[in-house]
Amino acid sequence: VVARKSGQLNPACDIGIDIGATSVKAGIVKRDGRLIEKAAIKTSEIQGPDHFLTLLETLIGQMLKDGKIEKRTVGGIGVGAPGWVEHDKGIVRELTNIPDWEDVPLAQRLEEGTGLKSFVDNDANAMALAELHYGAGRGHRNIVCLTLGTGVGGAVVINGEVFRGAHGLAGEIGHITLDLEGPECACGGRGCLENYVGNRFIVENAVKRLEQDSQGAQGALLLNMAGGDPKKITPKMLSEAAYKGDTIAIKVWHETGRYIGIALAGLVNLLNPECFIIGGGVAKAGAILFDEMRKTMESLAMNDLGKETPILEAQLSADAGIIGAATLAMGCIEKG
Ligand SMILES: [Zn+2]
Repeated sequence: VVARKSGQLNPACDIGIDIGATSVKAGIVKRDGRLIEKAAIKTSEIQGPDHFLTLLETLIGQMLKDGKIEKRTVGGIGVGAPGWVEHDKGIVRELTNIPDWEDVPLAQRLEEGTGLKSFVDNDANAMALAELHYGAGRGHRNIVCLTLGTGVGGAVVINGEVFRGAHGLAGEIGHITLDLEGPECACGGRGCLENYVGNRFIVENAVKRLEQDSQGAQGALLLNMAGGDPKKITPKMLSEAAYKGDTIAIKVWHETGRYIGIALAGLVNLLNPECFIIGGGVAKAGAILFDEMRKTMESLAMNDLGKETPILEAQLSADAGIIGAATLAMGCIEKG
């Protein structure tokens, strides 16, 4: 841990870094949540952990220079990484997008390289912090967040703090088993939520239904939008088709909503949160998905508690990852 140098001002901002599959986004975030500088590098160009750290240090230096920000006004650096992160130890254990990554003590190495206090966390946890402080979670202390995209990310916030569990793996809502007979999951489990509501599976569901629709009457609109090629269907197309009345697209979203609703009901019974916050690309399907989620959750949760648990749409956009990572740093520094 780097000691605060004498003469350092009260922190005015923090640096957030969001490691994604296609790009690593970095930004400087004011303590009111405003993103004032932004930069990115392509994930595919990163050759390994050492190279990554060198690139990050350059990127941070450049952002500070561009924004005319003095380093002594920066509180610290937060990093949100997809995969297994041990926040307390500052170690990112698994990171599939960058080669040769294994148990990298990222927080310590960033501190050594930049002289700024550094912290790491799972990207879904970082996003939950952003929503809690600046988005749909404002005013709440007990929330559960889900990010619906290629995978399903999850985070649990209890009494205003991210709950990370014994080994940093808490909140993996996407890997709650829904069906013991279901498909094998990449996590080693079977029939996980992610296997039914991840991007790829939603599209596969539509393709399967189109194949079974021998008359071609139910999914004509959807198929037309995909130029006649089911392989070209995207979740965005599916939501457009659904709102235009395509029967297959509607059925796919209803089924997706039901699966998520089952998981939410379980979470209501386990945690009794104040609300759920759902974000990510798939959540953009809106009411057609959310109504079914809500209905299913309400029908399954104990003691009508489902009716008392709002399901809110995430408010922060694509920058939520950067803002969340910076919020992580802010929170850790304030705790001391
Ligand atoms: Zn799984």
